[in-house]
Amino acid sequence: MSSTKGQVIRCKAAVAWEAGKPLVIEEVEVAPPQENEVRIKILFTSLCHTDVYFWEAKGQTPMFPRIYGHEAGGIVESVGPGVTDLAPGDKVLPVFTGECRECRHCKSEESNMCDLLRINTDRGVMLADGKSRFTIDGNPIYHFLGTSTFSEYTVCHVGSVAKINPDAPLDKVCVLSCGISTGLGATLNVAKPKKGQSVAIFGLGAVGLAAAEGARLSGASKIIGVDLNTSRFEQAKNFGCTDFVNPKDHDKPVQQVIAEMTGGGVDRSVECTGSVQAMISAFECVHDGWGVAVLVGVPNKDDAFKTHPVNFLNERTLKGTFFGNYKPRTDLPSVVEKYMNKELEVEKFITHSVPFSEINKAFEIMLRGEGLRCIIRMED
Ligand code: NAD
Ligand code: ZN
Repeated sequence: MSSTKGQVIRCKAAVAWEAGKPLVIEEVEVAPPQENEVRIKILFTSLCHTDVYFWEAKGQTPMFPRIYGHEAGGIVESVGPGVTDLAPGDKVLPVFTGECRECRHCKSEESNMCDLLRINTDRGVMLADGKSRFTIDGNPIYHFLGTSTFSEYTVCHVGSVAKINPDAPLDKVCVLSCGISTGLGATLNVAKPKKGQSVAIFGLGAVGLAAAEGARLSGASKIIGVDLNTSRFEQAKNFGCTDFVNPKDHDKPVQQVIAEMTGGGVDRSVECTGSVQAMISAFECVHDGWGVAVLVGVPNKDDAFKTHPVNFLNERTLKGTFFGNYKPRTDLPSVVEKYMNKELEVEKFITHSVPFSEINKAFEIMLRGEGLRCIIRMED
């Protein structure tokens, strides 16, 4: 591996040239890592809604050509100057948000919102010099979320890379670098249900099912899955959901339905939809006196959360979380360990798999709303 250190690597990458147009596999040049950067050989990557959302570029400033991808696993190929805690050969997960370990957030036990490396969807270049490490015939291609994993090689800031157990199978644990850890952490780190408590999960996509998995790991006795799409219910049983509510089946507000099912409200709720209406219901459906609701979904730009303040006075708590409150470098390795010691099941999130040459199929599967995660295999 060290033979490529310090040199430009030519490899294949899936380039998005235009919004909403199929990616094109191109030969790209990947520059060596600069100060505090590492170059990673990506072995497996998967597709998340955020990639599709920014590729469609309906709401935000378009930035093309760009290399998407942020859920992945790989091996460090080489490290730049100043990198001391990663070395060639290390097994790693690149993460869309980082941990510099020096800012006030990183120094706080309570925060994972690093000042330096917090998610930035508008930055398409590296921090060290404001340039891209990807080029085609010398012309720059933009990065995405500091990860750009739809490439055989990518360059990341060392603070956005988690070093994991060398025995971990990357074709499985690669999905832990975004949505699954977000949902899991929302329950385990923020909602924190006690054994035997009841938990409502709003939205049964990959994030919500991971939140349900967290409730299952916590020993919750009743896990109520709430979704507008009844076809999500069968699958959710594998993630610990014991009861289901489709708000469309009822004339009264879903919070009232849940209160009636649980003798006054659930102990905990986790919202994973992005719908502000579901956020309000998730808050209002928790029990007075002790109930805690956690918001995970990303709302629309102009949304406003409206509830009567007496819901707070009656001792309900509302919280929100980013990346399940996990610090990427410090905490993600322990999530991988949960999989390694068979506490956490990851396989059930992986419903599809395609070779890199067929990456556009992964987009089609997601756009059709099928399955949970499609793994993209870089080496065949
Ligand atoms: P998804 O689209 O696969 O699943 C969302 C589910 O919510 C769908 O099944 C949908 O039918 C359901 N739903 C929508 N509106 C609803 C309503 N009013 N009531 C009940 N169910 C409703 O999405 P996902 O990939 O699982 O992500 C879920 C959310 O989490 C998204 O908003 C995503 O942006 C967000 N997210 C947040 C973080 C974070 O750090 N906070 C990280 C990753 C993803
Ligand atoms: Zn920081």
